[in-house]
Amino acid sequence: MAQAFLATHGIDLDAELAQMQSPDANPQFAPNPQALATQSSAPPPHPPPSTSLSILIRNVSLPSQPGTHDVTLNPNTGKITHIGAHDSDIAMLVFANQKYGNGALLAPSLCHPHIHIDKAYLLSHPLHSKHQIKEGTFAEALHVTNLAKAAFTSEDLLERGQWVIDESVAAGVTHMRAFVEVDAIVGLKCLEAGLELKTQAEGQGRMRVQICAFAQLPLFSDSKTNAWSEEAEFHDPEAEKIRALMREAAANPEVEVLGSTPYVEADDEKARRNVEWMVDLSVELDKHLDFHLDYNLDPSQEPLIHHVVATLHAAHWTEKMTDKTIVIGHATRLTLFSTQEWIDLKKAIGDLPLHFVGLPTSDLYMLRTAECTRGTLDVISMIREHGLNACLGVNNVGNAFTPQGSCDPLSLASQGVGIYSAGTVEDAEVLYACVSTRAKAAIGFGGEAEKGRKEAEMREGGIRVGDAADVLLFGSEKQGWRTRKSVAEAVYLYDCYRGRRGFLGGKATS
Ligand SMILES: [Zn+2]
Repeated sequence: MAQAFLATHGIDLDAELAQMQSPDANPQFAPNPQALATQSSAPPPHPPPSTSLSILIRNVSLPSQPGTHDVTLNPNTGKITHIGAHDSDIAMLVFANQKYGNGALLAPSLCHPHIHIDKAYLLSHPLHSKHQIKEGTFAEALHVTNLAKAAFTSEDLLERGQWVIDESVAAGVTHMRAFVEVDAIVGLKCLEAGLELKTQAEGQGRMRVQICAFAQLPLFSDSKTNAWSEEAEFHDPEAEKIRALMREAAANPEVEVLGSTPYVEADDEKARRNVEWMVDLSVELDKHLDFHLDYNLDPSQEPLIHHVVATLHAAHWTEKMTDKTIVIGHATRLTLFSTQEWIDLKKAIGDLPLHFVGLPTSDLYMLRTAECTRGTLDVISMIREHGLNACLGVNNVGNAFTPQGSCDPLSLASQGVGIYSAGTVEDAEVLYACVSTRAKAAIGFGGEAEKGRKEAEMREGGIRVGDAADVLLFGSEKQGWRTRKSVAEAVYLYDCYRGRRGFLGGKATS
């Protein structure tokens, strides 16, 4: 009977008993013998499979659902196995590892779809802090960052990258696309550090880290590396070194994404070659693709997005790449599009799994000018009015490109209320999805359960049985009315990630 009852709460009694009797079992969650004697006629447990105790999160608020609920996460399947109305008297649920929400919001976990882990916190690290911002221009940011790159060490890359991971885990981020640069200056140093951070974070169950081998410098033009260094080894006038290094990085099976920056090429023809070379390499090696594209606010400059879309169709991306996505970052030039240009772009994209990521904190710092009050992609209208896939990313933090901010994606959603004048409850839910479910879908973590779902359901951040158990429990306050109980409250009232707890695949990440 107990077995059947627990099964209705998503808990497999045999598996739980086996786990509790295994040497690894946590004695804190041992069974209640009295409950066993009176409520269970279960047969002796099977030999212990490789299991962990289910986690029952009690008394939580869920997005767009009235009342409070109990939610069971199964760390063995990595799925949410039960959601039911909160029941304060379930004595039998001593079998599960219980957490108490005190009415706080339980929502899908957060995601970084675009963060430069190798350039974070350069302004603070002692090795690089001599390069502070004096002018606040893009040219200066490029210059001082390249000076820092020439001095990168494995140790400082690991230290700064670890800060990104630690702060992100504390914020409830469970998935991250981490950009690491590959070129003649840094060689594969950033990539190696990124892979080490990924191995550690994933091994500890703290976060799923997707590494993007990224060519910030040109693939077909002289990167003029001697402008900041006299070291001959850094020179790459024909860009042969960077292409060879990108090929080497791409061949590594741990590298899941390839990225480049066509706008840094010397002319349009080379920018188009950059796009074509990257699409070919991604298709050849079955990788996700990520472009820094159209990073300008010049109406006379032809947007390269059209060439990207045409090249992807010509390469038969949709037919050949069953689960790989394309993400376009920055793309500030698109903010000058007319309604008709958006409609034409949506039509041209067709069934390509192409997503846009808005990077408002970087864009507004770098690109805000007197002529253009909105130098960043309006992700809300892209989603609502044009039916495009869009999300939000931190991009940079603590460096000359973006000195301000934190590694908490929810702070972006919160700032988005003002940036996009998006204050309704529905707006707040879209903004949350932009740093959560939409961001995960953009970088290819949509999940099996989500594939069969209606688009609207999938993207707006609900919690359902069968979903991946990647969730975020918000903190509770002593005065209950101050606790964030809805997605809108979580977005409006930024909580500085106090008391948040992330779960990845049904296991706590901290
Ligand atoms: Zn970027």
